[in-house]
Amino acid sequence: MSDGAALPAGVQVLERGWLSSNSILLGGDPRGTVMVDTGYCTHADQTAALLAQSLASKASTLRLIVNTHLHSDHCGGNARMLELHRCPVWIPPGDYVHIESWNEERLSFLLTGQQCPRFKPTGALQPGSVLEQAGLGWEVHAAPGHDPHAVLLFEPISKTLISADALWEHGFGIVFPEIAGEPGFEEVEASLDLIERLSPAIVIPGHGPVFTDANRAMTEARQKLAFFRKNPDRHARHAAKALIVFHMLEVGQQNRAALSEWLQQTPIHRQLHQRFYAATSIQSWTTELLQELSHSGVLAVDSDLIRMAP
Ligand SMILES: [Zn+2]
Repeated sequence: MSDGAALPAGVQVLERGWLSSNSILLGGDPRGTVMVDTGYCTHADQTAALLAQSLASKASTLRLIVNTHLHSDHCGGNARMLELHRCPVWIPPGDYVHIESWNEERLSFLLTGQQCPRFKPTGALQPGSVLEQAGLGWEVHAAPGHDPHAVLLFEPISKTLISADALWEHGFGIVFPEIAGEPGFEEVEASLDLIERLSPAIVIPGHGPVFTDANRAMTEARQKLAFFRKNPDRHARHAAKALIVFHMLEVGQQNRAALSEWLQQTPIHRQLHQRFYAATSIQSWTTELLQELSHSGVLAVDSDLIRMAP
C-alpha cells in the first residue's frame, strides 16, 4: 500500500483461499465486533478459530454478522458462527423470505451443487441504510450484477470499500442472472459506475488480497465486461470452468467418471450447456472444459484422477 491508503483502525481481513470469501471483522466498538461474510462451510473450523483468536486479542465479542450476498462461499459459515456466538445476522432484503423459509428452489445452493448449512436471518441489510460501527458509518449500497440482491459497504472517511464480488483486483464474479437468461451485464456496469463514483482509496474484495489501485481494477473489469457482452458464450464457458474449479477446491480430487457424473447432475452445468453449447454433447463439452483447465495449469489431470494442480 505504497500510496498510504490504510484500512480504518480495528478492521481486519481474514483471507482463506478462493473457496471461502474473505471475512471482514469490524472491531473497535465497545458493543462488540461485526463480521462481514463467513466463508464456505468446509472452512468453518478455521474461520471459527481465526474469529476466536481475533476476538480474544481485542477482548471483544461478536455482536452482528452481515452478508453481502447469499452465495455459499459468503454465508456458508453463518450457521457455525451463529451456533458459537448467538448474535443477530442481517442479510440483503432481496432473498430474505427464501432464506427464512429455506426455499431451496429459489436459493443458489442446489443449483450450483454447493453446500450451505441452514441458518435463520434476523434482520435486513437495507441498501440506503448506514451500519454504524466504531464511530464510522458504513453505507450500504445495492450492487446487482453478479447477484441481483448483492450489496457493498463503503466507509466515506477512509474511503474503504467492501466490494464483495462486484469488483476484484482482476475482474468480478460470474454474472449469474445471464446464465439463467436474465439481464445482468447492464447491472454489472451500473455497479462499476457506482464504485467509480464512490472513488475508493482502498478495496477489500470478496476474494483475494486488499488493493488500493481501484482505477486499474476498474479498467480491467470494464474490459472483461465488454468482452463478455460481445461474447456471452465465453462468459458461459468462463462460468462453467469457475464452477468446476470451485467444486474441485471443495473436494480436492475426484475420479474422472465421478466428476463427469456430478457435473451432469448439477443443474447449473446442464443449464450452461443447454443454453450456450447444446450443439455439442454434454459429455464432450465437459471433457473440453477439463482439458482447458488442465492446459491452463489449474487442474492436474492424470489418466483417471482429477485434482487441483499443485
Ligand atoms: Zn458470489
